[in-house]
Amino acid sequence: MDTLITRLREFQLRDKFTKAELTKFELSSFDSTKRDKIDQVISECVERLVEEVSKKRSKKKKKLILRRYFKKFQRKDYTPEERDLVYENYLELAKIVKVDMKNQLDRWILGLELYIAFKTMMAYAKRNIKETITYNCKNCEEEFYIHITKRSSDIPDVTYDIVQCSECREYNLIDKGAGIESFRFGKCDWVEQLEKSRFSEEQAIARFEQVKLFRK
Ligand SMILES: [Zn+2]
Repeated sequence: MDTLITRLREFQLRDKFTKAELTKFELSSFDSTKRDKIDQVISECVERLVEEVSKKRSKKKKKLILRRYFKKFQRKDYTPEERDLVYENYLELAKIVKVDMKNQLDRWILGLELYIAFKTMMAYAKRNIKETITYNCKNCEEEFYIHITKRSSDIPDVTYDIVQCSECREYNLIDKGAGIESFRFGKCDWVEQLEKSRFSEEQAIARFEQVKLFRK
């Protein structure tokens, strides 16, 4: 069977309300009516996604399906902790089919007012970006970025960086190059810096392989 379909099925069947899961979201129990509804909506959504995957339809179609089912969750019906659980599960489902649902989910979890404030803040932060270096994750091929906020010709090329892809959580080794005074990571998280004075390229790769192996 298609591995994507297998992953969808695994996600569909997994108990999303185990004690460990609830603890993760600081919940001691979960209202059974709400639980059934979440299970049902997610399960139906997965069914539709499996159909689309089998027909090899476009990403756009999958996004439409995800959106349509997500609309069945009324924000006001859930406590903030319950919302976190719905959010995380739905985000995971969207990631399985490689659809970016972050905006819609953020808007739902933050509420419209906070969401607008958040977006305004992000837009403000973006204004300072002078240049963006784009990388592709070696594992899932999604893009991640180095947003350069300040260039300066006298900054030497001193480090390699190990970052973690936000999409699939795999580690990537990157070489930003010289001349970057300040920057931000986009769609990846910083893990470790390897100074070029201590690590040759080969040593950096060896260290990177170690990180991949042991941090899993
Ligand atoms: Zn990735």
